[in-house]
Amino acid sequence: MDSLSFFGHEIPIIYEMDCIVVGGGTGGATAALSALEEKISTLIVEKTISLGGTQTNSLVSPMMPTHVKIQRINQMIIERLNQENIKTVDGTTECSWFNVEALSYVLEQLITERGGEILYDAKFIDCIKEGGDITHIIVSTCSGLVAIKGKTFIDASADAILSRSAGVTVESGDKEQRNQQISFRFEMGGINIPVLRDFILSKGETFCKIEDPEFFEIAMVPGKGHFLEPLFRKGLENGDLMEEDLRYFQAFTQPGKPTVMSFNCPHIPGIVKTTDPKLRSKAVVKGREMIHRLVKFLPKYVPGFEHAFLLKEANQLGIRESWRIIGQYVLTEHDYVNRSRFEDGIARGDWYIDVHSVSKEDVNQSKFFKGEYYEIPYRSMITKEVNNLVVVGRHISCTFLMQASLRIQPTVRDMGQAAGLACALSVKESLGLNRINGAVLKKKLQLAEE
Ligand SMILES: Cc1cc2nc3c(=O)[nH]c(=O)nc-3n(C[C@H](O)[C@H](O)[C@H](O)COP(=O)(O)OP(=O)(O)OC[C@H]3O[C@@H](n4cnc5c(N)ncnc54)[C@H](O)[C@@H]3O)c2cc1C
Repeated sequence: MDSLSFFGHEIPIIYEMDCIVVGGGTGGATAALSALEEKISTLIVEKTISLGGTQTNSLVSPMMPTHVKIQRINQMIIERLNQENIKTVDGTTECSWFNVEALSYVLEQLITERGGEILYDAKFIDCIKEGGDITHIIVSTCSGLVAIKGKTFIDASADAILSRSAGVTVESGDKEQRNQQISFRFEMGGINIPVLRDFILSKGETFCKIEDPEFFEIAMVPGKGHFLEPLFRKGLENGDLMEEDLRYFQAFTQPGKPTVMSFNCPHIPGIVKTTDPKLRSKAVVKGREMIHRLVKFLPKYVPGFEHAFLLKEANQLGIRESWRIIGQYVLTEHDYVNRSRFEDGIARGDWYIDVHSVSKEDVNQSKFFKGEYYEIPYRSMITKEVNNLVVVGRHISCTFLMQASLRIQPTVRDMGQAAGLACALSVKESLGLNRINGAVLKKKLQLAEE
């Protein structure tokens, strides 16, 4: 087996691939599928043991509504979920639903059926560059450090980890370098959802407009008139909750899991930097305390929860935003306002600028009407520093506010499709990823007419 010297240690090169994807999450899994559809050899290096990233390991569902027409790889994943008897459409909203176990299984099957390789429990730690090219990545595995050789590399780590190690310039947070709120999501089982639904709807709560009882959502944001607020206040008065537990509460049903709801909370207070490893660890401890209070509170106060229990905690924090690369184009909120189109616009977004708990800046952030969208240029996924790198996911080149729109899952999946195709073009035409003609890429993607 070939090996290379890394800080004085001889380490084995265990793969040599056309396309290496660091991070098998929302964008990475889609990018790998796209590359495999183009018949180039592809490996995903994933630090956990399931694909889907924030969607599965952070328990984040459903996919936010979009009126942008669904692209091919996203459609393929949704169809496969349907084959697994997962209902993805609620009949009222444009959300796309899933449950986390079904999604991680479906992604893994789709990748392996196409001959894709997945290296699980494998953490990217560094890369080796020659000139402007990454030649190898160094990964920590159960057998120690290994090297992987590749022609093209996709940074889908969500924290720009490969980009940063390859010397790409990054930024983070808003003007004061504050990041968005972290959440620590969890699931409860044993909920009598029909009883809960009747209770909430009988009180005239109009938050959830979905008629199909399989899809239900509850929320409590103080001051917004939610019917659950007085119950939370009572919990506070009785010492079962703390003020911080009332910041934000939301939960969704999970198709295929009849007594289960997935909680988009707690919002963890006091952590304004997501790029500090010590603060991330503090967020875990704080978040877990908050989860355990909520899990005791709900059965005591809310009908339907009487026999409910904590089913699982996410095994990754819900990080909305950390580092962002500064690539060849920085997409801004003005592109949102202007509904900008680009010659190399390879994905489209229409979600609003959804900043959690940090003051919004003075830009016209009104939501789009159906049919309106902005484009994401390929140039915001490639860098000035590295020839054979493309970046996909929440950490592409954009401003803080713009990231709050483009980070949603359907948009990230579409970026992934473009990244995988770009790698195939790069390999087949022996052209650096940063020299691919984005207009050609756009044409090949055949984005549906809106
Ligand atoms: C709390 C919260 C709620 C949200 N709500 C919604 C919602 O309701 N609907 C919606 O559409 N969007 C929502 N979003 C946004 C959306 O889920 C994310 O922005 C999106 O999933 C990010 O995709 P990604 O590919 O960039 O990252 P991820 O999906 O997180 O993928 C990154 C992957 O990289 C892996 N990785 C990281 N570092 C390494 C390493 N060193 N080595 C190997 N692997 C590594 C991770 O394990 C992970 O699998 C929410 C986000 C959060 C945090």
